[in-house]
Amino acid sequence: MTKVTHVQTPATSPSPKFIGAEIYRGSTYGAWHPLRVPRVSTVMDLTRALGWLPAAQFITSPRAKLAALTSFHTPQYLQALQTAEAAQTVTDDIRNRHGLGTPSNPVFTEMFRRPATAAGGSLLAGELLRHGGVIYSPAGGTHHGLPDRANGFCYLNDPVLAIQSLRRNGAQRIAYIDIDAHHPDGVEHAFADDPDTLLISTHEINRWPRTGALTDQGAGQVFNLPVPAGLHDDDMALILHELILPLVQGFRPDAIVLQCGADAVTEDPQSRLCLSNNAHWAVVAALQSMAPRYLVLGGGGYNPWSVGRLWSGVWAVLNNKEIPDHLPPKGHAILRALRWDGIARRHLPQDHWITTLRDRPRNGAIHDDVRTGVAYLKNRIVRA
Ligand SMILES: [Zn+2]
Repeated sequence: MTKVTHVQTPATSPSPKFIGAEIYRGSTYGAWHPLRVPRVSTVMDLTRALGWLPAAQFITSPRAKLAALTSFHTPQYLQALQTAEAAQTVTDDIRNRHGLGTPSNPVFTEMFRRPATAAGGSLLAGELLRHGGVIYSPAGGTHHGLPDRANGFCYLNDPVLAIQSLRRNGAQRIAYIDIDAHHPDGVEHAFADDPDTLLISTHEINRWPRTGALTDQGAGQVFNLPVPAGLHDDDMALILHELILPLVQGFRPDAIVLQCGADAVTEDPQSRLCLSNNAHWAVVAALQSMAPRYLVLGGGGYNPWSVGRLWSGVWAVLNNKEIPDHLPPKGHAILRALRWDGIARRHLPQDHWITTLRDRPRNGAIHDDVRTGVAYLKNRIVRA
């Protein structure tokens, strides 16, 4: 594989880069928060154990400077966030104004440095993709962050910052696709009126934040598909081939940003969607050749085994690595060592969460809501 990379022009076909950092290891939002679990560190450990992440493909994420965050966030909010980390407490006024120190967005040790590192990764990705390429930043994807407020576990909105950075670095038309179980309200807030940013989201019907209606149009380039509980791989395949790919193809993007949240799988406690990780990997693979610049971000994902396995498989797909049927013992050890305290019995680890990356496919009849929603949105494409 290395030899092939050497004979290609680095400007057009660099090997994919993985942006990560050690700050995610051991960092927690608190003992009872869904984000008490390890995620990015598992992906770094598993992909290294499998020999998929040589040093040459790994980039340590820089921490974004405050000034770099003001292209989306207000200086007052950024100051409040930094002050809250230093003081490890907030006033009632700050809680009310900026959503900090709430059950969703708690005060925790790295509450500024951790999201600022994910944001730094997204800003850097836009620069590194100036001449094309593929970048994976599983710590990114914090799609709920708002200009003046923390929102839905997201203190900063790194997808918005990534899109802005891509644009500063030569990409005009950008397609943002979001397959997290939740609607990316912060990203839609930023770009709903921008005809150069295609926004496509699938998210569970009637789930927080309850934005992202099927009827949202923005400047004509907003496509929201609320999906029913029980959404399975065959539903997602139909959405991919009938809606996402035709939309992206028609848009002819200079860059694609995929938010690949891992909370739409059956084993995740924060949604009632029933995808297997094969569905996510199919989306990752299908979009890879559709634009010269490709940035894949993480997002939600609250079962430490399913998120670690899914996001490790994303890196395999981006690098054309075959995913083995059974993990080597080193992989078992990494997965067996994960802890998930305070979980319901149905989420106790199953054998295949330890011994494999790939889930069994989850198939079924296409849900009516999927068929009618896709047909409704396709009708808009035809008329556009
Ligand atoms: Zn989510």
